[in-house]
Amino acid sequence: MKIPFNKPFLTGKETHYIYEAVNSGKISGNGMFTKKCQDFFEKEYGFKKSLLTTSCTDALEMAAILANIEQDDEVIIPSYTFVSTALAFVRQGAKIVFADSYADNPNIDATKIEGLITPKTKAIVPVHYAGVACDMELIMNLSKKYNLLVIEDAAQAIDSYYTFSDGTKKPLGSIGHLAAFSFHETKNIISGEGGMLAINDYRFVERAEIIWEKGTNRSQFFRGEINKYGWVDTGSSFLPSEVIAAFLWAQLENIKPIQEKRKQLWETYYNLLSPLAKKVGFLMPIIPDFATNNAHMFYIVFNDANGRDSFINYLKANQVNPVFHYLSLHTSDFYTAKHDGRDLVNSDKYTEGLVRMPLYYDLQVSEIESIVDFIKAKYE
Ligand SMILES: *Cc1c(COP(=O)(O)O)cnc(C)c1O
Repeated sequence: MKIPFNKPFLTGKETHYIYEAVNSGKISGNGMFTKKCQDFFEKEYGFKKSLLTTSCTDALEMAAILANIEQDDEVIIPSYTFVSTALAFVRQGAKIVFADSYADNPNIDATKIEGLITPKTKAIVPVHYAGVACDMELIMNLSKKYNLLVIEDAAQAIDSYYTFSDGTKKPLGSIGHLAAFSFHETKNIISGEGGMLAINDYRFVERAEIIWEKGTNRSQFFRGEINKYGWVDTGSSFLPSEVIAAFLWAQLENIKPIQEKRKQLWETYYNLLSPLAKKVGFLMPIIPDFATNNAHMFYIVFNDANGRDSFINYLKANQVNPVFHYLSLHTSDFYTAKHDGRDLVNSDKYTEGLVRMPLYYDLQVSEIESIVDFIKAKYE
């Protein structure tokens, strides 16, 4: 039994649709498969506009441009996240004001955000860690009160939901003004590399299409809305080729079985590991009442790096490959000198103690049972 951390899942239709795209004679971007995918996202999740991108990193860069982030603007971002969340805004010259996580889950502590807001604050970027919703009601209220943009880093959050206190349930990525998703091969729905910008505020739609197409109004030209196209704004080549979109379409057709299988695996970990948590010395993941579980990730949290490392090394010796991740960005080589010096103890706690267990479509329930048996053999 050898269990990798991740194994990209293929539905079997990917090469078929890629063949179709190639055969159609159009393999550059914004063709039939791109439209099929974008329509799917708009219908299924209610985004006002969806634009496929070559990565979530790119979608975040588009969001930073759309938000008009300029030199010395402040953007509030959790420190416990992937580099791209902050990088997209740093490239525009922003000062990142890093926020801490909650003590009992890695999401941004929304109760502490107000204290970080200054007249220079332009945006808040909540990251739905493990696909579990941040406290969006609190965050959207701050957005209204201080006139700030909310850009959801929904890289891990496809097909996950948030319920407001009035009972309204909304898909993650449809709540903030803008949201960025990832289809990297480690996510639930994949295209190798790939992403999407979701736009929930009509103000941004026209300019987003221009930024997407290298600063030109080519999208409008293709729809016949104008009779020639040219350079009208900044931008880049953010759109993926039809080959990527064709791959993604095969995945989207299978989103329901993919999600069901991942949830079954997640539940298996949860049920089998819960009884061991106290004895071994780790915390279980928490899903707040307002959130759903999209089974993007199964993680546990040790008290310190020693406990974490010994657990990982032991499983690796048994051919099982859990991983740890996210070194707090406020202490990274790139940002530490620019950080304002505040300690972010919870972010550091997850940096030291969090472990991600293998979780992918082809993983078997019986394999999770064997993994847990290994753990019992070491700690019982
Ligand atoms: C995966 C991930 C990204 C980056 O996604 P890419 O598609 O690889 O650019 C950004 N933020 C978070 C939280 C992620 O998990």
